[in-house]
Amino acid sequence: PREGVRYKRVLLKVSGEALMGSRDFGLDPGMVNEVADEVKEVTALGVQVCLVIGGGNIFRGIKGAAGGMERATADYMGMLATVINALSMQSALERKGVSTRVQSAIPMSSVCEPYIRRRAIRHMEKGRVVIFAAGTGNPFFTTDTAAALRASEMGCDALLKATQVDGVYTADPKKVPDAERYDRLTYLDVLSKDLQVMDASAISLARENRIPILVFSIHTAGAFAEVMAGRGRYTIITE
Ligand code: UDP
Repeated sequence: PREGVRYKRVLLKVSGEALMGSRDFGLDPGMVNEVADEVKEVTALGVQVCLVIGGGNIFRGIKGAAGGMERATADYMGMLATVINALSMQSALERKGVSTRVQSAIPMSSVCEPYIRRRAIRHMEKGRVVIFAAGTGNPFFTTDTAAALRASEMGCDALLKATQVDGVYTADPKKVPDAERYDRLTYLDVLSKDLQVMDASAISLARENRIPILVFSIHTAGAFAEVMAGRGRYTIITE
């Protein structure tokens, strides 16, 4: 990495909702493009980047289950939704000249590569951005957990969570105007205060593998690159 850059290999988790922009559903191409710009900027710093993309903008298992569908089936539909998002992110990155590979936890051989850990690492070593699709491949999990899992498997030195606001707050700053932002938290703080950062299994996995979680805003241009250099506004979660 370039001088001043603190991380060598990172995983960025982007939720499906972040790709929705101001729409109620689906993908906003402008938003996908913005996220792709952020990723391109960070790869230009010499940081190896992989991505886990959510699917909540298209389908969530819980919602399907509430509608009477079997939970596992609904979750598979949610995982398929993440593949759609991953392909859209791949296309946006490649248009900008960033070389990418999509790897799906549910093999889909005519669409993308299957998830193969060592191959994913090799892609990153060659400077390609690897986009992990279909979450963990298992129902009853989330893409947050997939992000912590893949970050552990890839030996990432940070897990980045792009959110609607510039860090973790004492309450939802969009609803509670005097909510305060944390600069620093421990994994246990997040779990015991039940702060809505990532789900508990994701936090536990990151904790076990000592991967710091950095929470920053997806809406601030250049924020991802700033965070890589330890600048800008973000919350860092460590031991
Ligand atoms: N999902 C799953 N297993 C996984 C990851 C995701 O079953 O390992 C399903 C689950 O139904 C979830 C949906 O895929 O609701 C979309 O993922 P998620 O809700 O995590 O997306 P995000 O909130 O990040 O947009």
